[in-house]
Amino acid sequence: MTQAAAATKSSSKTEHFDVLIVGAGISGVGAAYHLKTQLPGTTFVALETQETFGGTWTTHKYPGIRSDSDLHTFGYRFKPWVGPPIAAASEILKYMNEVIDDNDLGKHIRYGHTIKRAEWSGKDNLWTLQVERKSDGALLTMTCGFLWMCQGYYRHSKGYTPEWAGMENFKGRIVHPQTWPEDLDYKGKRMIVIGSGATAATLVPAVANDTAHVTMLQRSPTYFIPGRNAIDIAEQLRALQVDEAWIHEITRRQILKMQDEFTTRSKEDPESVKAELLGAVKLFLGEDYDIEKHFTPKYRPWRQRIAFIPDGDLFQGIASGKASVVTDEIDRFTEKGILLKSGQELEADIIVTATGFDLEPLGEIDFHINGKPLKFGDTVTYRGMMFTGVPNMLWVFGYFRASWTLRVDIVADFVVRLLKHMKKTGTKRVEVAIPPSLKDMKLSTWIDPEDFNPGYVMRGMHLLPRRGDRREWQHTQDYWHEKDELPKIDLDGEEFVYDKAKVDA
Ligand SMILES: Cc1cc2nc3c(=O)[nH]c(=O)nc-3n(C[C@H](O)[C@H](O)[C@H](O)COP(=O)(O)OP(=O)(O)OC[C@H]3O[C@@H](n4cnc5c(N)ncnc54)[C@H](O)[C@@H]3O)c2cc1C
Repeated sequence: MTQAAAATKSSSKTEHFDVLIVGAGISGVGAAYHLKTQLPGTTFVALETQETFGGTWTTHKYPGIRSDSDLHTFGYRFKPWVGPPIAAASEILKYMNEVIDDNDLGKHIRYGHTIKRAEWSGKDNLWTLQVERKSDGALLTMTCGFLWMCQGYYRHSKGYTPEWAGMENFKGRIVHPQTWPEDLDYKGKRMIVIGSGATAATLVPAVANDTAHVTMLQRSPTYFIPGRNAIDIAEQLRALQVDEAWIHEITRRQILKMQDEFTTRSKEDPESVKAELLGAVKLFLGEDYDIEKHFTPKYRPWRQRIAFIPDGDLFQGIASGKASVVTDEIDRFTEKGILLKSGQELEADIIVTATGFDLEPLGEIDFHINGKPLKFGDTVTYRGMMFTGVPNMLWVFGYFRASWTLRVDIVADFVVRLLKHMKKTGTKRVEVAIPPSLKDMKLSTWIDPEDFNPGYVMRGMHLLPRRGDRREWQHTQDYWHEKDELPKIDLDGEEFVYDKAKVDA
């Protein structure tokens, strides 16, 4: 059958689901679990453009790819994590696979399905989606009552690489970690990794033993937390043969308490936190190393995500001389490598641009509301989950300063409560709206750059919804309050606008 014929044939049948989940990463699989277990009888499907689940953990294949936060809190609250806290992508995928198998979620996930367009009709209170099926190129039509957006926050197909003068002259290979070539042979080669975020900090120690030398080239330093890849309390409880479910819960509580204290101290006493972080680095690199130049950021701790460095492997690589750090600016690429503004030339066979992502808030889906294109950046967010003028849709955007998955679980509880409420009251549409009492509320960008300012958010801020000056109208990034606030949200509050059926009910 030709592709066109397949498209015509398939698109003639419209499938309907109560809920449609976009994506099968940690958020999408979590959403599917909660729907299945908390709302039995709900019809739902998760559509995933990739050929398997995992999202971030499938997309990224560079050497050493691992989490930068602990898996007790990056894991779901309902499935104990039994390994060391920092985990490789393969271990995270194995864990997710167990969640899918144990709960028979596989039949609800369709891989190789890309949602291209989503159109809301207020007349029917339905989303209509156009979905491309990769296997035969067919364009399918699906409808759903509620859209649960678990598409992440960045473009998966390609990372962000700045344009530097002379890139075309470089005789070696330039690669981005997000699209790491399977055939890249770096054994015995000289490598430069541009950047010093979590990706660079993972990649450098992972290749240090095999490359001739690896240089981490950064414009400015980043904070890191080096430490043992183990959690004392989990080890102690395990030695006492305590049930894994208990270990998971207790370890999560301890980690979250410590993180809360750390976040508060970073704001209230940044100098002592800074001294602590730099002191830990000094233990690996010694007194003679220029920590001031290479590891002392200009910003206060926690304004950007701080990666945990298991067993200080990045610093061990530097101390051994297999890896080094250069803090300088790029003037241009040359045939042999990179010419720095200081005049030094770094030679390399491979240059890795660990320079981040491109923000992609809506999964590259062309959204329309009642026939009009959606300008997402013009909407205002309700708690970083729902958006004014966008009915029956919610986006899972996790935390920067705590594990993403903590929010997957508590937002799922909110969705379940909302859907149950709508069923009970016979309503088909819910929308958030700024109440008249707040009509003069001051609006600003999605996040305050003074509070948190990673590059991809700064570059793409205009694509993100705006926030108000009240907690309800912001993504507060504050798990510790949200865990108590979300369950108490009054679903009959004036910020929720339901369709007429509710008024008549
Ligand atoms: C290298 C790396 C390491 C990280 N480490 C951590 C960490 O240790 N701790 C932490 O808390 N956070 C970490 N993060 C942030 C991380 O992205 C999130 O924690 C989490 O994995 C995001 O999960 P998600 O399911 O929301 O989104 P994603 O993992 O981005 O998955 C979204 C899925 O949706 C699919 N999709 C998108 N658009 C469409 C569409 N139109 N149609 C169909 N499918 C679509 C994508 O293909 C993808 O599979 C890391 C991020 C990166 C890049």
